[in-house]
Amino acid sequence: RFITVEGTEGVGKSTNIEFLCSLLKDKDIEIVLTREPGGTPMAEELRNMLLQPREESVSEDAELLLMFAARAQHLENVIKPALERGAWVISDRFTDATFAYQGGGRGVDENQILMLETLVQKGLQPDMTLLLDLDVEIGLKRASARSAPDRFEQEKVAFFEKVRAAYLARAANDPLRFAVIDASVSLDAVQRQIAQAVNRFVES
Ligand code: C5P
Repeated sequence: RFITVEGTEGVGKSTNIEFLCSLLKDKDIEIVLTREPGGTPMAEELRNMLLQPREESVSEDAELLLMFAARAQHLENVIKPALERGAWVISDRFTDATFAYQGGGRGVDENQILMLETLVQKGLQPDMTLLLDLDVEIGLKRASARSAPDRFEQEKVAFFEKVRAAYLARAANDPLRFAVIDASVSLDAVQRQIAQAVNRFVES
């Protein structure tokens, strides 16, 4: 099965993905942990291209197409082979991030993203998506304390507000796939919510 984890900057994705993996390993499930953009050598090169701050302005279409180029490579070489041999795949971000960042944040037409999604995924969708939701400003403060901003993190609060709203709208439209996790509470309380959602999913 295919699980994705999403959220805006500084919501605690990395820590909680580690927790998610340990939960599943305790259940003797073989897991493949991966991330987007990236997950294969070529897709990681595309990630560097996308994230590196640069002088040249980046066309929205170029950004969108590079995201999907990385995703096509990732699906073909990592995600599909792992799912086919019965492993569970955990991906730190997937196409919901494209709807949220390039769609919500940049304002790319949703139908263009849908077209590329169909082309690249051919119907393959995550079975469960954990959306870690947190006030944007709190998250940005956490993220900036941790490392120098990448090209996206240089955006202003208003950009991330749009990203967050787009994530929440997608979650509201697909409540069966999404578990929205309130990431504003203590780490313990966040992980209790995750454990509950995952247990419900494993038993389903
Ligand atoms: O490690 P993290 O997932 O936070 O880094 C990925 C970066 O790429 C983030 O800054 C995120 O905002 C950006 N991103 C994006 N569009 C996507 C996926 C990631 O802008 N579709």
